[in-house]
Amino acid sequence: MTGRFEGRSALVTGAASGIGLALAHLLAEEGAARLILVDRDAAALEAVACDVDMIRVVGDVSDEALWDRIDLTGLDHAVVNAGVAGAATIADHDFAEWRRILSVNLDGAFLTLRAAMRAMAAGPETRGGSIVLTASAAGIKAEPGVAAYGCSKAALLHLAKVAAKEGAADRIRVNAIAPAGVETPVWDAVPMFAARAVEIGRDAAFAELAAMATPLGRYARADEVAAQIAFLLGDESALMTGATLLADGGYTL
Ligand code: NAD
Repeated sequence: MTGRFEGRSALVTGAASGIGLALAHLLAEEGAARLILVDRDAAALEAVACDVDMIRVVGDVSDEALWDRIDLTGLDHAVVNAGVAGAATIADHDFAEWRRILSVNLDGAFLTLRAAMRAMAAGPETRGGSIVLTASAAGIKAEPGVAAYGCSKAALLHLAKVAAKEGAADRIRVNAIAPAGVETPVWDAVPMFAARAVEIGRDAAFAELAAMATPLGRYARADEVAAQIAFLLGDESALMTGATLLADGGYTL
């Protein structure tokens, strides 16, 4: 499957860790000519080592001004991936924390998507393109304690559908991916997981959770989710738009 992204340019947000980082490596391995990697973690972004023309942009995706300083001319692909987690019951939820999660996961995704769609539709002849939003199975299946995160991700599934309809005339496809669990630092923000990880170790806590939650008995690795995102980005999925691809081990069944 090498060369699927030969000569293409791609934007990836949240590219310094986890799924975004795995995807940056995959796109580079498969021939991408230019990667625009955005993350708010300057040190982690600096450490990304891909053998490709890379533009690193340190910033917060939910800051509208950030998008004025990123040149997306000629963009073929975008992965709207930066996100944060958190867990609290509604009764206990701090309003500032609610807004922080919605701001990064939804406002940030909207601003990224808008910038990507504008770039792809620009020019005398629209070049088209494909975009993937990293949503979550938490936006499909309700669980206690995940209102802010779940609502932000449910909104992304709808945003992808609206964007798919609006982008079609410009040959822009927009799809969403919904992983259930991927062992990345995002879990450290979930108090129940963090507490169990202290008791029995991070790997064991993650395996325990996955065994309880999924028919397949395991969650995904970041590179597995990246592979599914690459499928949605690439030409093999040319007929898919507005779709949600699960990467959940059967969690939502
Ligand atoms: P991660 O923490 O490893 O990576 C997220 C990256 O996003 C980090 O590098 C972080 O610095 C960056 N980021 C966070 N907020 C940002 C902001 N405002 N502006 C710019 N960069 C920002 O986590 P991950 O698991 O790779 O998460 C990637 C996406 O996958 C997220 O949207 C997350 O919600 C989603 N997701 C993760 C899981 C999981 O279990 N890990 C499951 C479903 C969906």
